[in-house]
Amino acid sequence: MTPLAALLRDRIRAAGPITVAEYMAEALGHPEHGYYRKKDPLGAAGDFVTAPEISQMFGEIIGLWCVAVWQTMGAPNPFNLVELGPGRGTLMADLLRAARLMPDFGAAADVHLVETSLPLRRAQRAALGDRRVRWHDAFSEVPRAPTLLIANEFFDALPIRQFEHVGGDWHERLIDHGDDGFEFVTGPPVPPDVVPAGLRAAQDGAVAESCPAGCALAAEIGRHVAGDGGAALVIDYGPSRSGHGDSLQAVRGHRYQPPLAAPGEADLTAHVDFQALAEAAAPAVSHGPVDQGLWLRRLGIEVRTATLARANPAKAAEIAVACRRLIAPSEMGTLFKVLALAEPSLPVLPGFAAEQGLG
Ligand code: SAH
Repeated sequence: MTPLAALLRDRIRAAGPITVAEYMAEALGHPEHGYYRKKDPLGAAGDFVTAPEISQMFGEIIGLWCVAVWQTMGAPNPFNLVELGPGRGTLMADLLRAARLMPDFGAAADVHLVETSLPLRRAQRAALGDRRVRWHDAFSEVPRAPTLLIANEFFDALPIRQFEHVGGDWHERLIDHGDDGFEFVTGPPVPPDVVPAGLRAAQDGAVAESCPAGCALAAEIGRHVAGDGGAALVIDYGPSRSGHGDSLQAVRGHRYQPPLAAPGEADLTAHVDFQALAEAAAPAVSHGPVDQGLWLRRLGIEVRTATLARANPAKAAEIAVACRRLIAPSEMGTLFKVLALAEPSLPVLPGFAAEQGLG
């Protein structure tokens, strides 16, 4: 039993079953034993690999996107360049390098990194060399200013609540501890308005999820960019429209494992409900979500792949494989989505088509 499992078991024995959100918050964020507090989970030797770790092209394209949007905003100086959960700092380093083609952008950018993990803050410091950056524990600490914000695989780590439709009512799904360890149990009924509006009508047996922390953060980002100007780019996995289903998953050493098996030792995530985030972010408007593969192709990843391969002939095959991993429908191309939340006066942003947007 992991140290965190023992703590959670004792807590449940003393005070009764806990919500899925409480479990997830402790498993990922417990100050001593939380998954993200202890170690660097990324890369081949870790538990999972993210897009910026697959190819430098990912961060570079986001960098060019930022330069283009910054110009559309009227090139504010200074402005906030914010990243939520920057991992090893790879995306931000690639972004800033690509953005050097417009030196005024880098000079005007105040870089703010929202990161709770100390090992990852150290990795970010190393990746960004002597670039001046400020770290924060939460987005609420970032000062008000025109803002460009990036969040890649951040919202999927925020705690979700789960609800089960039983006997005509919605019940909170709880986690208890029995003879065989942790187990899901059906908790008391909840008021229907706790369940996201689009999911309330359901058959018995249906599962609904909500992410109060994600929606609260989207609302804060929305107020910030709508009030001070700017846009946020949210890249993550999940469906474009809210739907029923249990998406809680645990990954350890590149393999799925049962989500209750080893709290604190495995990455624990849930699908991001892009529709819910877009709605929560009003008065900011949403662009997309569009599939990651389509978005990257619209921004020229295939041309960039060819250019990079010509410059590094010995690595041409590796570069082509990396591009495929990012855009192929069988890999990250359609599971991952890109959503922008922007100040309403901005035109359609690069990579998004005019007909899209949830509100
Ligand atoms: N964006 C990076 C890393 C994704 S992993 C990449 O694409 O490679 C999730 C990141 O979010 C990690 O850096 C983790 O430490 C951070 N994180 C997770 N929960 C957080 C929270 N509640 N507050 C701040 N950072 C958090």
